[in-house]
Amino acid sequence: MKVGELVEALKMRALPESSDDHGALVEFLKLYRDAVQLAVNNLWSLNNVPSIKTLHKMFYNELRKHGFRAHHAKQIYVYAKAIAKASKRNGGSKPVLRRLTARIDRYDYRLDLENRVLILKVHGNREVKLRLLSSNERIEKFKGWCNYEIAVKVVEGEVYVAVYFRKTVKPRRTETVMTVDVNFDNVTLAVFKPGGELLKLKRYKTPLRRILTHRIWIERIQRRYPRSWRFIKGVREAIRKHGERARSIAWDYAHRIGDSIAELASRYSSIVVLENLNKLRSNVDRSSSFNKKLSLWFYRRMLFTISYEALERRLEVNYINPVKTSSTCPRCGNRLESNGNRVMRCTKCGFMGDRDVIACINLFYRYTRCGGLGVPLNAPKGDANPRPMRGNRG
Ligand SMILES: [Zn+2]
Repeated sequence: MKVGELVEALKMRALPESSDDHGALVEFLKLYRDAVQLAVNNLWSLNNVPSIKTLHKMFYNELRKHGFRAHHAKQIYVYAKAIAKASKRNGGSKPVLRRLTARIDRYDYRLDLENRVLILKVHGNREVKLRLLSSNERIEKFKGWCNYEIAVKVVEGEVYVAVYFRKTVKPRRTETVMTVDVNFDNVTLAVFKPGGELLKLKRYKTPLRRILTHRIWIERIQRRYPRSWRFIKGVREAIRKHGERARSIAWDYAHRIGDSIAELASRYSSIVVLENLNKLRSNVDRSSSFNKKLSLWFYRRMLFTISYEALERRLEVNYINPVKTSSTCPRCGNRLESNGNRVMRCTKCGFMGDRDVIACINLFYRYTRCGGLGVPLNAPKGDANPRPMRGNRG
């Protein structure tokens, strides 16, 4: 049985026990930042970003000499590597670090959640004591979880801590398979018995068109105030409001639908089968780059929420390559043609169905063929096809 993993951060403010603790923490964060910067500078002049092993040779002894602990040193060059790599990939200039923030390995801190005390081991064998400000309920949630890394930052004198927790989830027994297809207009789910019988079909409308109208408003405003809109407060404000509205619609939707889908999966004891993230299916017919970016962002959000909520209910989650799932005939494997209005038709065997439902069926076949559930290789026969496909739209 596959094991899933949940990762979550507990973020909170923290108060240094004394002004000495505060001073030592800030000093540590400054040293840490400068060390990362130095490593970035070194890496920047190289053509290729070296392996972790080489990085270790390059920086470890030097960092240790400056009073960093073994795991500090490792965090520093790993972090520097990530920064340098990301900036090179984006064609950016050499990054300059300003913020006071550090990632700290679990060997370099002691966490006492019960008493809300965090002790950090900083440079030169010093320790910094922090009192964590968090509610009982939030802390209660993480009992039985395993903490690994923490992130500490100081912003305008205030200390913030994020503790990263993980929990392995032993999936429970499943009896059915739920496949989920996400596209620009709809999120469609289908629940199948292992033999292929369709138990449930449900469709949710996505809010992407609604979000697009906010985008259109923004563009309209920007056109009305060419160049100058950035400098007019009211206009800037209007644009910000539309952007915020669009984001909150998307977040809200992803949470609600993710929850609802996982709840259904739980009721049917389903294995959840999702499309693989690198979604190659493009929306050719509406291919403005904003639409593409928006839908890609939305798919990711959606898939993440569904899988997270499913894991929390101890359901196994699997990913399947979605290429051509909505354009392949589930009966004979031929290429389907559009018959208008999202209905697809097979020119070879005459099969007809809604494209989202077809995508769900093909995901199911692909999953069972991959050997999930130990289902016999179930070559789709005409009469084995789930019924409610013909012209089902709603
Ligand atoms: Zn066919």
